[in-house]
Amino acid sequence: MTYPNPYEPGDDNPHPSGYGPVFEEPKPRRSRGIDLLLWLVLAACVAVFALSPMGLGILLPAERSIPDVADERVQYDRAIELVQPDGDFKRTAPPPPAGLIEDVDYALYLADDDFIVHWSCADPIAVRIAGSAPTGAREAVLNAIDLVVEASGLPLYLAGSLPQPIDDPEDVPHGEIAISFLLQDDFENAMNGYDDDYSDALGVAGPHYNASSGRIRSAHILMSEHSDPRMRSGQHTVLHELLHAVGIGHADQSAHKEVMRPRLSLHDNTNFGPGDRFALAAVGCY
Ligand SMILES: [Zn+2]
Repeated sequence: MTYPNPYEPGDDNPHPSGYGPVFEEPKPRRSRGIDLLLWLVLAACVAVFALSPMGLGILLPAERSIPDVADERVQYDRAIELVQPDGDFKRTAPPPPAGLIEDVDYALYLADDDFIVHWSCADPIAVRIAGSAPTGAREAVLNAIDLVVEASGLPLYLAGSLPQPIDDPEDVPHGEIAISFLLQDDFENAMNGYDDDYSDALGVAGPHYNASSGRIRSAHILMSEHSDPRMRSGQHTVLHELLHAVGIGHADQSAHKEVMRPRLSLHDNTNFGPGDRFALAAVGCY
């Protein structure tokens, strides 16, 4: 089911507006290996969200809020503390606890030999806003990082912004996640390169990973202008896309309120469901 897109141009969507690099972090160590076989998961990990117009009228004014979040320096210090040696990098998916079903309540991307796709725990992972971003975007990204780190132990932190949006995953710096908040025309142009029609998606994301080990090289996230990060729905979407960026697919048919359900519905928020939490632990560093 789809609903008309609620966005109206000019309706309190200032773009671009204030955000900015506040803190220039020291350069993290880089992996020096060359990934020969890189795959990109994107087609399988697109959020196509729709909002009920009725819910929009009733819900959005009241739901507008910007979360109180840790700043960049706190996140960087925490990431440094979380870094640990990888040991045997290759992992297979752990068995789910009773009540959770793979590809129903959660999904993990798989590389060759059924190794799960995941980030290294041995280096801090910089998340950077690429290009200008709307009001509330920085706070939404900081908040999403806090939630993912809490549930996964992945050493993510918000780093200084990049000057331009990045819509080609090859252009994301090695070891980093780039999130670009695109004007709608630019978003739809970026979607033209894919076979499926994602033009009404609120966001797309995907990890770029080594096909044999499953090690994620980098990830990119593109946010539609229709997703407003001042809104709980927009904050949910940023979090959803960040979960794709750390190797988690859709909870297509879950009866739980998973962040990774592929469609936004009324009252969705940034609370993880049990499938989300299991998947975050499976790709994580705890
Ligand atoms: Zn998605």
